[in-house]
Amino acid sequence: MMTVTKSLFVSHGSPTLILEDLPATRFLRRLGSDVARPKAIVAVSAHWMTRMPAVSGAARPETIHDFYGFPPPLYALKYAAPGAPDLAERLAEALRSAGFQAVIDPEQGLDHGAWVPAMLAWPAADIPILQLAVQPHLDAAHHYAMGQALAPLVAEGLLVMGSGSATHNLRALDRGRHESVAQWAQHFDDWLVAAIEAGDVAALLDWKHQAPHARMAHPTDEHFLPLFVAMGAAGANTRGRTLHRSFTHGALSMSAFAFEAPSVS
Ligand code: ZN
Repeated sequence: MMTVTKSLFVSHGSPTLILEDLPATRFLRRLGSDVARPKAIVAVSAHWMTRMPAVSGAARPETIHDFYGFPPPLYALKYAAPGAPDLAERLAEALRSAGFQAVIDPEQGLDHGAWVPAMLAWPAADIPILQLAVQPHLDAAHHYAMGQALAPLVAEGLLVMGSGSATHNLRALDRGRHESVAQWAQHFDDWLVAAIEAGDVAALLDWKHQAPHARMAHPTDEHFLPLFVAMGAAGANTRGRTLHRSFTHGALSMSAFAFEAPSVS
C-alpha cells in the first residue's frame, strides 16, 4: 500500500550533531530525499516556548545560534531558507478556528531545533520554513489538538516537523560516550517506539503515567511536546513508522518517526 508522509518527529540532539558524522547525522542527511518534497515546512521546535500558540511570520528568518560555548564553526552556519508570511497567517487562522489564541511573531528566526535538522535534510534551503512554538506549561493533549488544527494544511502539502528529543535528561548524559546506553533511556525509548508503531494515541497522551521512567527521560516536557503536534497533524488513522534509532552521550535518544496515511491517489 502506498503511503504519504504527513508529519515527522526528529530528535535534534546536541547542536554539534551537524559537525559530526554520527548515525543520526547520516540519517538526517538522507531524510530530505526519503520524504516527498513538501511545499513548506512547519518546524515545531522545543526551543521556542511561548505562553500561547505562536507562529513565526518572518519573510527572511534569521538563523539563531541559541547555544553557548560550542565550537566557532557552528556559529558560522546559516540556513537561508525563505519564510512564509502568508502561510503563517493561514496557520494562525487555522489555530484560531480550532479555539486557540494564536499570535504571529514577525521577528522570530530559526532556532537550532529547526535549522539543524532542516539544514541536514534540505541543504539547498529552497523550501519555505516557519516555526510553531510549544507551550511547556500545557500538556500533551493541548499539543495534539494544535496539530489536529493544522491537518487541513498538511493535506495541501505542508510538512509538520516536530523537533525535540525522544529522551532529554541533560544531567544524565555521559558526554562523548555514544556506544553504551543507560537502561532507563532504553526502556523509555522502547516503550515510545512500540506505542507509536501501534498507533496508541491514548497511551502516548498519557505518557507521564504509562511510560517507564517518564520523569527520568523528560525532567521537563518541552523536548517531548513537538511529538504530539506531529501526531495530531497527521490526522486520524495514521500510524507512526520508526525512521531511525540511535543514542548519543549514553542517554540521549535520537529516535525519529514518520506519521503516515494511506495514499488516496
Ligand atoms: Zn534541544
